[in-house]
Amino acid sequence: MSRIAYVNGRYLPHRAACVHVEDRGFQFADGAYEVIAVRGDGFVDEALHFERLHRSLGELRIEPPMSDAALRAVMRETVRRNRVADGIVYIQVTRGAAPRDFAFPPGARPSLIMTARAQRALDPAILERGVRVITVPDIRWARPDIKSVALLPNALGKQRARETGAYEAWQVDRDGNVTEGTSSNAWIVTDSNTIVTRQADHAILNGVTRLGVLNAARGSGLAVEERPFSVAEAKAAREAFLTSTTNFVVPVVRIDDAAVGEGTPGDIVRRLRALYADRALKGVVR
Ligand code: PMP
Repeated sequence: MSRIAYVNGRYLPHRAACVHVEDRGFQFADGAYEVIAVRGDGFVDEALHFERLHRSLGELRIEPPMSDAALRAVMRETVRRNRVADGIVYIQVTRGAAPRDFAFPPGARPSLIMTARAQRALDPAILERGVRVITVPDIRWARPDIKSVALLPNALGKQRARETGAYEAWQVDRDGNVTEGTSSNAWIVTDSNTIVTRQADHAILNGVTRLGVLNAARGSGLAVEERPFSVAEAKAAREAFLTSTTNFVVPVVRIDDAAVGEGTPGDIVRRLRALYADRALKGVVR
């Protein structure tokens, strides 16, 4: 079955799905995106993803290409046409196509594309063993809170991780604090069992999974702090983990060459993964 993409009003096989050569998303990374998990034909945390898409577009001053109701309908149709029961849907909105000029083009219509693909659940062995992350300098612009398609630093960081056999790269700011992964948020658990993740300021993307895990943790009486933490603190932490739409909650057992805790997934991360998965699946919207 060939995969089908939605492109500006049409559903097309991928080989025929094209954007304009002067689309500003292609030339300037002038656009925003969302990735939403599909589980059992439904969407995990749809409302939060829509809220964040609107926030990103608002910050970039791009008009939403259509109403939320229409966007939802296209999303469902894209998932249906690709026969995805468990996987992801990708939504990208750009400022549109116009003769190349940095300033906003008057009257350009935003472009909207969507793709969907099936994705197998994470290998249980990964969850049993935990993963290694490396640290890399955070070389991104000053607004990673906007989910823009300008992802070159993220791609370079992830490639470095891949080349060193690590699962993810944690980006580190000039003060030596971990901001976040290249496609996930970063967390540690202190000796006093407090869960720590960086506050959602301009330096990180406020992950939808991050919000869900914060909720689940607080709801079950776990202590939570939103504050910066250093690489040294992370290496000396009792537990560490990462969160994202495609991973949910994954234990981190090594940071660079240092074992975290016993070098095996800890109790709190196991508990949070179970709590989050439970909560996410209950919140699925069809
Ligand atoms: N940070 C970055 C840089 C990301 O790309 C992602 C994945 N979109 C996340 C964090 C996690 O966000 P979410 O939980 O919404 O997938």
